[in-house]
Amino acid sequence: MPAPIPEDLQKKVAERLAFYQDLGIAPFYRDRPAETAFREEQPAQSPESTIRSAQIPHEEPTLPKTLRKPDLQKLALALPKIAPLPTAPAPSLFDSADKVADDTLLKVREDLGECTRCKLHKHRHTIVFGDGSPKAELVFVGEGPGADEDAQGLPFVGRAGKLLTQMIEAMGLQRKDVYICNVVKCRPPENRTPEDDEVGTCSPFLFRQLDVIAPKVIVCLGAVAAKTLLKTNRGISQFRGQWLDYRSSKLMATYHPAYLLRNPNAKGEVWKDLQKVMALLGLHAKKGKPA
Ligand code: SF4
Repeated sequence: MPAPIPEDLQKKVAERLAFYQDLGIAPFYRDRPAETAFREEQPAQSPESTIRSAQIPHEEPTLPKTLRKPDLQKLALALPKIAPLPTAPAPSLFDSADKVADDTLLKVREDLGECTRCKLHKHRHTIVFGDGSPKAELVFVGEGPGADEDAQGLPFVGRAGKLLTQMIEAMGLQRKDVYICNVVKCRPPENRTPEDDEVGTCSPFLFRQLDVIAPKVIVCLGAVAAKTLLKTNRGISQFRGQWLDYRSSKLMATYHPAYLLRNPNAKGEVWKDLQKVMALLGLHAKKGKPA
């Protein structure tokens, strides 16, 4: 007789299953671990890839070693060509001429200080700088903190954050494997869109964060993040899901999780975008498999 599953775990599993179903991932089997099931359904691997797979640690705090291997370039080349790929011009502030050679996230945070550089400081409780691995190969950039983030000082911890966490885990990662931050570090009143002067004042700190981390991939969550990094006024629908360039990183713009909460039908589009990111990084979904 198996031990009863705790109620909180049951709830978590139910939420996760609903999330996967929203993405069109099915079916699920109750009589074997999903991870095992997924592994069994993979096509036969070469001896080399089998060895590589065996070397991937499950609970390491950083991305699997395979993500750092040169064969990532082969994977990138194998992706469908999307032309032309616009290249983001260098940011106007803190650009390469001003780049601090030995900059660190700690220095960026110290320089930010108890910032009052723009009017968003007036109503904030906490500066939300960023969270995750400083060596992340994948960085998510959102728009700005909401009420929960303002209260806790961490990015993406409210309802939208919960959805982002589910997406990250669906990609076979954990939050600690990636880095998450926003364009503006203080909550705009009533969660309004940050204004141009606020973005212009705060974004140099984002640029420095990205320079320090130098991720392989940046995922822009929503139009504000994409327009800020790409220096464009084009609507996100014109370039969502396409590979773009931001300095030495590949950039993928997709919808903000808050938008997905209002428009659940768009989850599938976002999942397709994230699958492109997974392909570039050599990631495999940990659980389940698209039907
Ligand atoms: S949003 Fe950025 S620039 Fe404005 S007060 Fe906050 S930390 Fe400073």
